[in-house]
Amino acid sequence: MEKWLLGVDLGGTTTKLAFINQYGEIQHKWEIATDISENGKHITTNIAKAIDLKLEQIGESKNKLVGIGMGAPGPVNTTNGVIYEAVNLGWKNYPLKDLLEVETNLPVIIDNDANLAALGEMWKGAGNGAKDLVCVTLGTGVGGGVIANGSLVHGISGAGGEIGHITVVPENGFHCNCGKRGCLETVASATGIVKLAMDEIKNNGVSILTEQLESVGSITAKDVFDAARLGDALANHVLNRVGFYLGLALANLGSALNPEKIVIGGGVSKAGDILLQSVRKYFEEFAFIRVRHSTELAIATLGNDAGVIGAAWLVKTNFGD
Ligand SMILES: [Zn+2]
Repeated sequence: MEKWLLGVDLGGTTTKLAFINQYGEIQHKWEIATDISENGKHITTNIAKAIDLKLEQIGESKNKLVGIGMGAPGPVNTTNGVIYEAVNLGWKNYPLKDLLEVETNLPVIIDNDANLAALGEMWKGAGNGAKDLVCVTLGTGVGGGVIANGSLVHGISGAGGEIGHITVVPENGFHCNCGKRGCLETVASATGIVKLAMDEIKNNGVSILTEQLESVGSITAKDVFDAARLGDALANHVLNRVGFYLGLALANLGSALNPEKIVIGGGVSKAGDILLQSVRKYFEEFAFIRVRHSTELAIATLGNDAGVIGAAWLVKTNFGD
């Protein structure tokens, strides 16, 4: 019997689940709402119930599953599967692995969600098997995962690969949720890009974006990229600044690690070539020359599936036979 790997990607609003075969191909995927009431105490029970229900619906038994890999939105102690902190879920020093193992009777392995997205891209996505890979995820925030010689870099307290909190604006930067200022997240996340655009609008005025702001009342990061594509000068200036900050951070990471690939994922990466070209220009300016010639920049290809596929990879490599 072919056994399946179960990947879970736990987010603040929804939890994605997928049964994935040994080749990394998704067999079934579905989502449930994440119940964050009472400090997230129902989350593990809800996941266990969702697994049982799906198995019943498709006529499979639990024996079909090798184990569970799960990504959590916060730093993780990968030795014991304790979440140090997940602010959105109300968890602090939360024994996620132990609880989920008791609820499901399956072996569980936990890691940070952005780290799993990196593993997913390495296995089945833009990484294309590259064993030295950096992945940066540009969403509401900015996450990161660093893979060296096929293994994730966790650091001494689970904070390895926190690319979003690399300082790129050393003076007078925007405040970041982490308590610092000038983090990459404050200028390269979807919200950060809007902040940069609002800054420019305040100082400059005329743009497609100003009209949009007056008629709709708000702008999004996608609006900025769309306006840039139409040749809007202000939007192009914002795009150039985003490219500068990302290019700077990724070039410095590149010079430290010289990975085969640096993969840019997350909702913002849907901007595609226009973003990649802007980042590449500054990456080439700031990276050490051998890095510039050997480290490739690429847009992620797995979209929202990266996390569950990376989680499945963890199951395969830790519990597989
Ligand atoms: Zn920060």
